[in-house]
Amino acid sequence: MDADPRVGIGYDIHRLVEDTASPGIKLAGVLVPCQFRLIAHSDGDVALHALCDALLGALGAGDLGEHFPDTDAAHRGRDSADFVSAVLALPAMHGWRIANLDLNLIVQTPRLSGHKPAMRSRLAELFHLPVDRCGVKARTNEGLDAIGAHQAVAAQAVVLLVR
Ligand code: MG
Repeated sequence: MDADPRVGIGYDIHRLVEDTASPGIKLAGVLVPCQFRLIAHSDGDVALHALCDALLGALGAGDLGEHFPDTDAAHRGRDSADFVSAVLALPAMHGWRIANLDLNLIVQTPRLSGHKPAMRSRLAELFHLPVDRCGVKARTNEGLDAIGAHQAVAAQAVVLLVR
């Protein structure tokens, strides 16, 4: 048992707009088909952004915005999987491994229940973990606030690091 584990928390929210031409939205690295698109500088994957922030928090290594400023044209439309790879490759990660990660997706539309297995598989691939160490939970916002009004999607994440 690691006597000195590190835990990190992450949160992200992005605006959602109706767009009948959209192929869908990216969540946890999975394209979820729907007639909405995310307003974001990168691909807007709130789940991967929250997980990256959780990882950076556990490392005491700042946040995603410091590492990948949204003022940088190089990150426009960027696949957020690239951010995951870059964070995992930070020198601060040396000597640490992820014990587990857990994700809350707070999304009114589209419904995510059918996509959770694919999301867990994709997270396992991106973070080099067994699937049973990747938690994905999804809930609506019960119709409340901007998320409930289909104007945003959000994610919360925690990551535990051990030596
Ligand atoms: Mg974000």
